[in-house]
Amino acid sequence: MSGPPTFFDRLLWRVNFLPRDSALRFQPQIAAVIFGFHLLALLACIPWLFDWSAVALVPIGMYLFGTLGINIGFHRLLTHRGFECPRWLECALTVLGVCCREGTPLSWVAIHRMHHQHSDDPPDPHTPKASFFWSHVGWFLVYDPAVWSINTYDRYVRDLLRDRFIKKMEKPRTQKRVQLAQLAVFLTLGAIVGAVVHETWLGALQMSLSWLVWGVFVRTVVVWHVTWSVNSLTHMWGYRNYNTHDDSRNNIFVGLVSNGEGWHNNHHAQPRAAAHGHKWWEFDLSFVTIWVLEKLGLAWDVVRPKPRADATSGAESGAESGSATPAVPAAAAPAEVAVVAAPPVPAGPGSVA
Ligand SMILES: [Zn+2]
Ligand SMILES: [Zn+2]
Repeated sequence: MSGPPTFFDRLLWRVNFLPRDSALRFQPQIAAVIFGFHLLALLACIPWLFDWSAVALVPIGMYLFGTLGINIGFHRLLTHRGFECPRWLECALTVLGVCCREGTPLSWVAIHRMHHQHSDDPPDPHTPKASFFWSHVGWFLVYDPAVWSINTYDRYVRDLLRDRFIKKMEKPRTQKRVQLAQLAVFLTLGAIVGAVVHETWLGALQMSLSWLVWGVFVRTVVVWHVTWSVNSLTHMWGYRNYNTHDDSRNNIFVGLVSNGEGWHNNHHAQPRAAAHGHKWWEFDLSFVTIWVLEKLGLAWDVVRPKPRADATSGAESGAESGSATPAVPAAAAPAEVAVVAAPPVPAGPGSVA
């Protein structure tokens, strides 16, 4: 339910960011967190907090939290079930994703499945057809009762609502504990390394704070913008391997910085495929990781892309979608979601709105 419009809502009506008298409401708490983390990340400009070991934590953290947590955990596993893995690994990947502060697992998966079902059509929560700013950051600064409703969860994440661990991760108390644990780990490890290297209390404090700023604040902001760029840039600029019904693109820049998520047109064409790079040069470190897990016996039922001739046969003949695989397995999701982006003929278990 939307409450009465606030000062911020009326202000955004005036600048035409929100439609006047709509049910959309600006979310100042989320805006404060986003703005606050950007300010905290700027602490990296203080020379006293610079240390090469801390700087190295950014790419390491991008892989640990962004690639393992978001790309592999939230996206390719929880959303699309592109592979299966041991329960302990699924839980660990989920916790790493929660550390990124991109929302709870249920909200992340529900919004993303909604995006796949309505890509670049009006119900798409973050299409850049509204504006670049909207698709990058604006859409989650605004509460839309049509999106954030119990119906959304029931329709898009019914399979995950049965998962006790996922439901536990939804609780604000659990989220807070995960975030505090993350801060404690970086502060403590930084202090230990600082004490060993500098052999002074001040050196330990300096390294501890340096690891916190670079390893948490800077890394979180960088991972945010990488994820947001998948929502914005890869629906605006890039090339297309498949004639999907949306504006998805393969964006080389996003493909490389996101460790594979930027090959987004490939992904929209075959959402369940665990590999997003479909050409030999479309490097996808996220899939390389899944491949290594598979070799180690820690991943199985890995969904691989259909041969290109199969995948594009519908697209090249002018069909609305080049999709060869549904967004999620039929057993894991309600009918509306299971047939996302499936070719319109032959008919699935019901027509998609
Ligand atoms: Zn997309
Ligand atoms: Zn997806």
